[in-house]
Amino acid sequence: MGSAATSNAPNGKVKRVMVRISDRLGGVAKTRVARIVLWAFAVLATVIMVAIAVLALTFRPARLELPAVNIGDLPPASPPASMSISALPTGTYDSPAALTYRGGAWSETRHLAATAILVRHPKGNLLIDTGFGRRIDEHIKLIPPMQRTPQTKGVPAVDRLAAGGVHPGDIAAIIPTHGHWDHVSGVDDFRGVPVMETATGKRWITSKAEGTEVINSLRGINYRLYDFDGGPYLGFPRSHDVFGDGSVVIVPAPGHTPDSVVVFVSLPSGARYALIGDLVFQMEGVDIPAEKPWMLRWLIGENNIVVRKDTALVRAIREKFPQIHPLPAHDSRSFGAIPVFPASAR
Ligand SMILES: [Zn+2]
Repeated sequence: MGSAATSNAPNGKVKRVMVRISDRLGGVAKTRVARIVLWAFAVLATVIMVAIAVLALTFRPARLELPAVNIGDLPPASPPASMSISALPTGTYDSPAALTYRGGAWSETRHLAATAILVRHPKGNLLIDTGFGRRIDEHIKLIPPMQRTPQTKGVPAVDRLAAGGVHPGDIAAIIPTHGHWDHVSGVDDFRGVPVMETATGKRWITSKAEGTEVINSLRGINYRLYDFDGGPYLGFPRSHDVFGDGSVVIVPAPGHTPDSVVVFVSLPSGARYALIGDLVFQMEGVDIPAEKPWMLRWLIGENNIVVRKDTALVRAIREKFPQIHPLPAHDSRSFGAIPVFPASAR
């Protein structure tokens, strides 16, 4: 015992020294770990701040450089005297102007139109886009939560038409400018009415690409496939003349989505409209010109080159032929010129 006690004494001292050294080393290690963690946080915070600053820059005003384009001559059109156009406002949804074009203010709320267009023609009445349908609440549940912004619901196109004596059986075809929810929700209320799509457009829709949730949820769509079987039209490479009289001509504009089209409507008065869908969200897109903010274009998966070329065409068309009015699908101000059904313009 005694010998053990005497031999333990230096051992205990050694242990105490060891513990002290290890404590000190542990302290040093802890300080080092704390320093590394602090550095990591600082680097992360800097990276996040730089990313936010760079993202903020993409919302800054910037005039879009457009390619030079050639639109050629004014295509002939012989619209029948009884042909007319009417607007069917089905509602609006809110967005800060900043999310609709570069340079828009965050503080300004734009009420984006969801308006269908009725074209009455002796060979058949057409609906271009359908806006919010009767089941819009169910449809909105299908889109990503980020896109669900406050809406104001108007009258579904089918109900506004019925009040004026026009029933789904009186509509020859629906031409969606593209398959996004805010353009096709109302298709559901016109069961059986042919929906005009190109093979390319339909392929994109049936691929269940992002943005096609609502159109793919609609049962029994009566697709009517058509080709761009006509020649160049105002700088667009191909065209499809719906009635053969130049009054309604569809051209491909696959920049916003692969199925996007522009529909040209020529009225007996000589006035013409270019229903440009979501090529731009607001007129500033053409007027300034300013593109959609990068984040939006990226989330939608737009083809920037095609959007820029088609925006250049629309600007050039308006400049050379002022009788052609571009109509972005969501610019409530631009629809002012088109009377609301049952009123119409010829
Ligand atoms: Zn849209």
